[in-house]
Formats: sequence, structure tokens, C-alpha cells
Amino acid sequence: MEITKHFFFNLSLLVIILFFVLVWAEKSSKFRFSKGYSLFWSIIMLWICFQFSYEPDPHFTYDLRMILVIIGGLYAGIGLELVAAVIIMRGFYGIEPGFYTTILLYLPLGIILWKLYPWFWKQPPRKRIHVAVISSMIISVLTVITMEIAIPPQNRFDAWFAYLIIPPLGVGMISYVIEFAKRNLDIRENLVRTEKLEAVEQMGAAISHEIRNPLTAAIGFVQLLQEQKLPPRKRQEYLTIVKAELESAEQVIQNYLTFSKPALDIIEEINVKKELMQVMNILKPTANQNSVEFNSDFALLGSIKGDRQKFHQCFLNVIKNAIEAMPRGGQLYIETQYSSSHITIEIKDTGIGMTEEQLQRLGEPYYSTKGPKGTGLGMMVVFSIVRAMEGSVKVKSELNKGTVFTFSFPSYKADLRKNEA
Ligand code: ADP
Ligand code: MG
Repeated sequence: MEITKHFFFNLSLLVIILFFVLVWAEKSSKFRFSKGYSLFWSIIMLWICFQFSYEPDPHFTYDLRMILVIIGGLYAGIGLELVAAVIIMRGFYGIEPGFYTTILLYLPLGIILWKLYPWFWKQPPRKRIHVAVISSMIISVLTVITMEIAIPPQNRFDAWFAYLIIPPLGVGMISYVIEFAKRNLDIRENLVRTEKLEAVEQMGAAISHEIRNPLTAAIGFVQLLQEQKLPPRKRQEYLTIVKAELESAEQVIQNYLTFSKPALDIIEEINVKKELMQVMNILKPTANQNSVEFNSDFALLGSIKGDRQKFHQCFLNVIKNAIEAMPRGGQLYIETQYSSSHITIEIKDTGIGMTEEQLQRLGEPYYSTKGPKGTGLGMMVVFSIVRAMEGSVKVKSELNKGTVFTFSFPSYKADLRKNEA
């Protein structure tokens, strides 16, 4: 049973290599039976088949090249290329009867596989495996027949057994593994697609809800403004409302955009104190309305690296939440601290605070305790911006006492030093 033993050994080599090829292809995430990739590995495996072939007499080599040609031809459409490779490789072993039988057997096989390839992929997976196994059985029988005619082997039973059993077995195993890997990949891709679709749907629903409300309100007030006999005071009041409504719609859009594209567009040096003061200026009117008092304590120095506009957005969201957490007024503390490696920013309020569960869910999309007034997008955007800027956030909160957000970002100087090193 020398030939059979050799064949089993060869088959295990093929399966080992195939295993690594599949694992590697899956990792690189572009696992498609691309021609170049398949051809490269098939030729390496062919070469291994020839290296470990069994040659009891100099005219005939027993090996498993047939498995590769069938799998490659059917699954990757590289039948003709592989047949050419087989003929060339076989040529190196000498131009004798074995060489001619190779041409006689493989050339038609290459052409048939090439013709079969488009049809093959239209079949369901189970049928594909059957087709592959049956093809290899036919080739096995033909190999045995040509062998008997050209150079009858000494150990007939062994050669027959080796050719009739092992190649179909190998082809069956390998095609099964390929189908298995392919199905897993398809399922995964489908899942990603469904998730994306879901996100888009949710987003559509939220946008129409969140943006339509302020817009409808704004339109209503614009209609009122069209009245000719409106006293100037009323006119001013309506305009303020329209502006506020439009701003809130703009905020929603801004939050969506930032979240769908958290990567930083422009990287620049951000002066932390300057930016925070700007944010405070924007929110001053809202704070005054809620009788919230600002207290700030800024370190003299401190700049970080990032996208200025997104930094702005991030603290606008946090401070706005803090103000909204103090409907009956309170104190808001904004502090920064500077060290050579990090800049820390602390936002503290004396508001309603959060329960353990609320704290857990903070940053979840659409999680809001503010009813129809809330969007539940602010904190989600905050977290995604902080992550993009390589910073971190810690939140401490106590119900009815207040909340502290502590942000930490790598300082601009430390970042420069890191890049120089
Ligand atoms: P929204 O402000 O639209 O509700 P956010 O994502 O900005 O959405 O905030 C989500 C939730 O987190 C808020 O509804 C609120 O319950 C809670 N929250 C955020 N900041 C604070 C804070 N400073 N104090 C208390 N609760 C807060
Ligand atoms: Mg908010």
C-alpha cells in the first residue's frame, strides 16, 4: 500500500496548507476567490504535490495534482492555468510516456473545467460539492484506464485503490471546507449590511422627527411675522423663537454628521481655554434663563491636538446637558489642569444627577430622560469625539447632588514629542 500511504500523506499536506490559506484569507478580510490569489497558492500546492510524489518507476509519478486542478478549475476558474502549470512541471520530470498521458488527460480536463466554471457557480452549494466529487471520480477512472494502457503498475490493487478513493475523498473534503468558509463569510456580510440598514432607518426616523418639529415651529412663527400690524416687541420675540428653533434643528444635524464621521477632518492646535470660553459665551443666554451661574478656573497653559470644531461640539453638548440638569438654577464649574503630558478638563454641575442605571446607559444612541425635548444624541457624539481625539472621559454622578465629567487629552507638546521620537 505504498501509493495509498503516499497519497494520504500528500492529502494531509494539502489540507494543512489549505487551512492556513483560509485562515489567512479570512483575516485579511478580502476573502474572495480572487484569481491571482488562488493561482498563487494552487501553484505552490502543485509544486508540493510534485515534490512529494511517489515514483516507484521512473516513467510514472503518482501524485494528487488532480485534486488541485479540479478545485482550482471549478472554484476559481483557473483550470487552464493550472493545467499549463501541471504540464510544465511534469515536463521537468522528463518527456516520456507519463508526460504524454498527462497532456492527453489534463488538456481536455482544463478545457472542460473552464467551460464548466460559470455554470458551476450558479449551482447551490450542495450540488457544487457533488459536481466536484463526481468530476474527480471521472478523472480517477480515466487515470486508472490510461495507466493500465500506458504503463500497467506493478502493484495494481494499490494504484487502483489510491486513485479511485483518495482524490474524490480529498476533493469532497476541500470543497466542503471552502463552502463552509464561504457560507460563514456570507452570513457575516449579510449581518453587517442589515446593521447598516438598520442604522440608516433609525437615523431617517430620528431626523424626520427631530428636525421636523423645530422647522414646523419656525414656519408657524414666520407666518405670524408676515402680519403687517405686528408690534415691534412681538416681532422681536417671534424672531428670537424662530432663531432658537432653527438653531436646534442645526444642532441635530451637526450631531448626526459628527457621529457618522467621527474621524477628525482637520488636525490643529487647540487652545483649550480659548475654546471653552467661546462655548461658555454661546451658552450664556441659556444659562441665564435657567439661573445657572458659571464658575471657571483655567490653567494658564494648555493646548491639545485635534479638530477645533469637533472639540467645540463636544463641550457644547456636555455643558448644555449640565445646564439642563439644573432647571431650578445652580452652579456650573469648568476647570482645566495642565501637566506636560495631559490636559484635564472638569465640568461639574449641581444638578439632578443620574442613577446607576442612567450612568450605565449614558452615550447610548437615543437614550434620553428628557422626553420629547431630548434627542439622546449629545453624549453619543461626545464619546465618539473624545475617542477620535485619543482622550478619555470619567463620569461621577450622585442623584440630586450633581455630576462631574472629567476629560483628559494628551497635551499638544507631549504629542509633538511623541511624533518626533
Ligand atoms: P439629551 O440631552 O438629548 O437627552 P444626551 O445624549 O445629551 O441626550 O444625554 C443623555 C442623557 O444623559 C440625558 O437625557 C440625561 O438623562 C443624562 N445626562 C447627561 N448629562 C447629564 C448631567 N450633567 N446631569 C444629569 N444627567 C445627565
Ligand atoms: Mg444633550
